[in-house]
Amino acid sequence: MTTQNTQKTHHLTLIIPVYNEADGLRRHLDEILRQLEALPASFSTDLLIVDDGSTDSTPGIVQALCEQCSDVSLLVLNRNFGKEAAIMAGLDHADADAVVVMDSDLQHPPALLPKMVELWLGGADVVEAVKISRNTRSGPYRYFANVFYHIFDTLTGLDLHNHSDYKLLDRKVIEAYRSLPERTRFFRGLVNWMHFPAAQIPFEEPAREAGESKWGALRLLKLSWQSISSFTALPLQLVTILGGVTFLVSLLLGAKALYDKLSGQALDGFTTVILLLLIIGSVLMFSLGLLGSYVARIYDEIKARPHYLIAPGKSRLPITRKEEGHGK
Ligand code: UDP
Ligand code: MG
Repeated sequence: MTTQNTQKTHHLTLIIPVYNEADGLRRHLDEILRQLEALPASFSTDLLIVDDGSTDSTPGIVQALCEQCSDVSLLVLNRNFGKEAAIMAGLDHADADAVVVMDSDLQHPPALLPKMVELWLGGADVVEAVKISRNTRSGPYRYFANVFYHIFDTLTGLDLHNHSDYKLLDRKVIEAYRSLPERTRFFRGLVNWMHFPAAQIPFEEPAREAGESKWGALRLLKLSWQSISSFTALPLQLVTILGGVTFLVSLLLGAKALYDKLSGQALDGFTTVILLLLIIGSVLMFSLGLLGSYVARIYDEIKARPHYLIAPGKSRLPITRKEEGHGK
């Protein structure tokens, strides 16, 4: 950690979003602090823990650590705004040459930090830790993640397979990220989209040390759709394609209906009419739903609510970094 008499030329902040992580948190943070000692002597470091509205003893645990360790600070959000907002809050309040965004559960191994800073010093503005395998996750989780990344890749052209939020970002990348005007954010997608010179480090994702993953199936599904719809409007084109397909089917069935009528066998078309009604009805409903979800996206963006709100008086920040900024 920081010592006063060594010449420190680089400052690195670790941003760690936490939400109800009391179980094992102190041990995890101690381990992260321990691993920071392996960084080159020219580095000064600090931890910025962003409490994302935990309802357990998480903030208290971090506050106690802040009392003992001047290189640890805490930013407390008013309620649970989600990991994306917590990362944004951390980036807004970091004041460093580079930051590393890292999970609190040791699934992002801090042992990678020396390699990350080495690549950064070598010129990479973004250093991404990419998972080699997801074997620590359940079968359905892995399957769902693969399907999601495949769809995301097909629709947006950005291949994020096995990418994680464990990233080192240079100051200029942080500034660029903060200047993006959108509210709905998909951190790993946007960092990729900004396309700064990047280096990758493969890593085996260990199993969660303690506590549970915060992503239930529904939350994951919602997040996936938010990520896709915030990146591409291509699904809307699907409506046009569906319209084209139903038009073709109607042409065929229309020709058959006319033929039946002219040849005097018009009565047996009842099933066809029902099928047509069902098909067209469901395509219309599907299309309306799709349009609706994009309108909702526009609605959310136009409201321009802040990404997060800070809980007054609960944070422990250095005097140089005030509890200011509510995510614009
Ligand atoms: N997290 C957060 N806000 C949330 C959900 C999660 O800050 O609403 C934090 C969580 O405390 C952890 C990190 O984000 O430090 C990753 O969460 P988790 O381990 O549950 O995700 P997974 O590893 O299963 O993708
Ligand atoms: Mg985890």
